[in-house]
Amino acid sequence: MRPIIVWFRRDLRTEDHAALHHASAEGIPIVPLFIFDTELIQSLRSDGAVFNYQAEALNELAMKIQTVGGRLIVRRGTILDVHRSLISELNPAALYFNRDYEPYARARDSKVTDLYRRAGIEVKTFRDSVVHEPDELFTSQGKPFVVFTPYARAWKKLSHPLPFDTPRSITTPKVRSDEILDARGLRRTVGIIQPAFRGGESEARKRWKIFLARGIADYREQRDIPSLDGTSRMSAALRFGCISVRTVLETSSHHAAGAPTSIRDSVGKFIDELIWRDFYQSVLYHFPQLIHSSYRPEFDEIKWNTRPKMFEAWTLGQTGFPIVDAGMRQLRTTGWMHNRIRMVVASFLTKDLRYDWRRGAAWFEEKLLDIETASNIGGWQWSASSGVDPKPMRIFNPRLQSERFDPDGAYIREYVPELRRVPAKFIHAPHEMPSPLQKELGVILGRDYPKPIVDHRSASEEFKRMFQAMKNSRTSTKLGG
Ligand code: FAD
Repeated sequence: MRPIIVWFRRDLRTEDHAALHHASAEGIPIVPLFIFDTELIQSLRSDGAVFNYQAEALNELAMKIQTVGGRLIVRRGTILDVHRSLISELNPAALYFNRDYEPYARARDSKVTDLYRRAGIEVKTFRDSVVHEPDELFTSQGKPFVVFTPYARAWKKLSHPLPFDTPRSITTPKVRSDEILDARGLRRTVGIIQPAFRGGESEARKRWKIFLARGIADYREQRDIPSLDGTSRMSAALRFGCISVRTVLETSSHHAAGAPTSIRDSVGKFIDELIWRDFYQSVLYHFPQLIHSSYRPEFDEIKWNTRPKMFEAWTLGQTGFPIVDAGMRQLRTTGWMHNRIRMVVASFLTKDLRYDWRRGAAWFEEKLLDIETASNIGGWQWSASSGVDPKPMRIFNPRLQSERFDPDGAYIREYVPELRRVPAKFIHAPHEMPSPLQKELGVILGRDYPKPIVDHRSASEEFKRMFQAMKNSRTSTKLGG
């Protein structure tokens, strides 16, 4: 019998998997396929730890498929070559896959779809990685949303998809498979020495269960405190599809049903974050140029800082701003950073040090285990004030953010060990410590920990002045011309 190929990409699980569910309902053999796309891998900046995460997820996927009687088929090569050879080896009845909305993936998937359709083979695609797809929501003028609040309002009015059943049995015809490759197999260097997450469906489920039982009720209060385990930390699992967003939404809504108002509010806040995820997918889908360009074009006229020194200090967590340095070191060692701190370090890079947001986004691309182009570009452009969802120019004051969200410095002390003994009074601005205290603690500023590399107040005033001057010159050019 001609099989259905189910092509796995960013959906590395068997539970609640749209394409796999629909394929198994056909009752014919299935070829679960994963391709190591050599072209894509070469173009990715990602640290080797990301490929280790993916390999862990794939190993578990292979095992899960095997327990229901099937076999994961792995191939390595360029996407079209691999599909061409599978068409001739298997003469498949159909190709099924879950849709991906990023510009690269859309171009790739449209070529693959053409290839199969030209061979007379059916292609079916499914909504899976988001709750609502970019073409499900438009403003009353029929335009894509560019402001979050009305988008979220419209999103909440839709009826949400429910989880799919997991296949109980799969048969896979005999066909050659390559090995699952990790960082070493792909010859990628691993710089992230203590990855925050392990890949795989069971890890993701375990983490989710713990968050549902112990974290979600306090999410609203704790989500901005970086020293606490107050957020779900599901981002990498959602990115690689080790858990489905439908399951996450359904179980959290179930948790809220009938619960006291405080828990319902907290779950509501958590669901808002899932909506941000869909929102950014929609924004990038409708405005694919945002990968390279600012949504507000005036930001592409800024004369950004191009000198390497301060950028390097930022990447190394050596700026002399403890909250920034803690975040950048958390990212470097674990491949994850708390959301509040992502906003602080991004504002600091773009507004205080005045580097192009694209450079920051590229650094995150290299280091984040949860790297999601749409959310990363969205988060960076939001922080740089160059993106959708316009707000007045926000410049985060790192010291005030630190005092407010890490009052006793617990987060700073975890990631900046040289400041561990600094008293709470000076933890947010250690350069203000009197010299005798510096000597007593063995933390000499400028030797053991850097002095601040910029003055926040003058840097932010300078940024505002420069931005205003640029806006004025745009207006006068428009008036004059
Ligand atoms: P929770 O607070 O538990 O949220 C639950 C889920 O909602 C997350 O796992 C994530 O999938 C989604 N989510 C939460 N906040 C956002 C948001 N602001 N935008 C979009 N989705 C969100 N998120 C990524 O998944 N990948 C990225 O590459 C990424 N880059 C970012 C870059 C910058 C500069 C900023 C400011 C934010 C970025 N975010 C990114 C969003 C956010 O920081 C992370 O999703 C969040 O920190 C992940 O931790 P969590 O799973 O504990 O989140």
